[in-house]
Amino acid sequence: MELKESNKFFKNKKFKYLVIGIVVLIFIMIGLYFLFMPRLELKGKDEIVLDYPNNYKEPGFKAKILNKDITPQVKVRGKVNDKKIGEYKIIYEVKYLFMKKNIVRIVKVIDSENPKLTLKGEENTKVCPGKEYQEEGFDAIDNYDGDLKDKVEVDKSSDKWVYKVVDSSGNKTILERKFTYVDDNMPVIELTGQSIMYITQGNQYKEPGYKASDKCDGDITNKVTISGKVNINVPGTYELIYTVIDNSNNKAEIKRKVIVQRKKIYTGGSGIIYLTFDDGPQSGTTDKILNVLKEEGVKATFFVTCKGPDSLILREYKEGHAIALHTATHNYAQVYASVNSYYADLNQVSSRVKRITGLDSKIIRFPGGSSNTVSRRYQQGIMSFLTKDVLSRGYHYFDWNVDADDAVGCVKSASPACVYNNVTKRLSKNRNNIVLMHDVKPYTANALRDIIKYAKNNGYTFKKIDMSTPMVWEKVNN
Ligand code: ZN
Repeated sequence: MELKESNKFFKNKKFKYLVIGIVVLIFIMIGLYFLFMPRLELKGKDEIVLDYPNNYKEPGFKAKILNKDITPQVKVRGKVNDKKIGEYKIIYEVKYLFMKKNIVRIVKVIDSENPKLTLKGEENTKVCPGKEYQEEGFDAIDNYDGDLKDKVEVDKSSDKWVYKVVDSSGNKTILERKFTYVDDNMPVIELTGQSIMYITQGNQYKEPGYKASDKCDGDITNKVTISGKVNINVPGTYELIYTVIDNSNNKAEIKRKVIVQRKKIYTGGSGIIYLTFDDGPQSGTTDKILNVLKEEGVKATFFVTCKGPDSLILREYKEGHAIALHTATHNYAQVYASVNSYYADLNQVSSRVKRITGLDSKIIRFPGGSSNTVSRRYQQGIMSFLTKDVLSRGYHYFDWNVDADDAVGCVKSASPACVYNNVTKRLSKNRNNIVLMHDVKPYTANALRDIIKYAKNNGYTFKKIDMSTPMVWEKVNN
């Protein structure tokens, strides 16, 4: 009955048109929809993985309606912070009339880089037997997390330490430090005092001492053995060998030379030494010489120039030494150009001494000594004249009879031993010894103490030059 009725209903023509009308309308609507729905396209992928620290750059998009470009009307929402790990959503939306279209792009900022782990010291490290490795340090830096030093885990075992660090994204780095237990370092022996020592025959040799240390065993001074002997009664050169062996049988050795010098026996004579120093003062050497003289209680004579600081001349004077005149310029061509020129130079250094000390020194030494031949180049016969003339003007001039040869012979070796040997072998107990030295030579400064010790041990005495000191002259050659 119902079915029959419906058939009837469908047979109704009006209704048929209605259905067709609706269907047509729907097609028109769909058509309009496709026609007026904006088309939106993304350039690039709709899911982008961005590895830190790369920067995000919008790849772009395009929007069209009916072949008309409406890209400028696209609205973009959402932002990517490419400095921060995370997932970001960007929504692109465009409207046209009553139609709206949107697309989503996903951007994932990730960190895929392993942290950088560096070990200080060697990866294969030698460790003293029986000791634990002492950490030398390490650094861990991650491109994203920054300093991860505090996050480093160290897994310690006796043959290796394993260092591990993991960053906030799970990237990890592992390093190993491997150990070998061995001591292959030589111990070190250091001598206290000089490595070459001079003593005078018959005087006692006192061991100045030594120190020995080892990287693994620490202070092993008590393990040092000394071989060799010094016979203080027989002049000669003796060698002492200091040896030390550490717990791992590494051996070190060092030597000291002891030179026993013959004691000279004198009969009579003054045995007075006048130490004289030319060409100064000079910072660094004259002060060193003054220190030694002070410590040894010896007075000397300084033949000064116009070089060096006033303070050193003042110190020489205050410490009781004789201040004598050498030359202002030490320029032979100028000094020996004429008699007037000689006195002009002398007066200049004389004024300097007077200004600093108040002294009117009349004790002089000619540049090059009175026997010099260099003056011949500038003025024939000038020394013959000057050696008499200075005396008539009240000066006392001094040459020398003991030449340290520190301005010529010892220059090449620059060795204190050279100066020492020259002076000690030339000293004589049978006269006044006027010793020529130069306080501008570092090796002379370094030889001085040994020279004084030698002289004291051999019964010499020291004096400074004054106006009562007998003058010592060489033969005049010009
Ligand atoms: Zn000189």
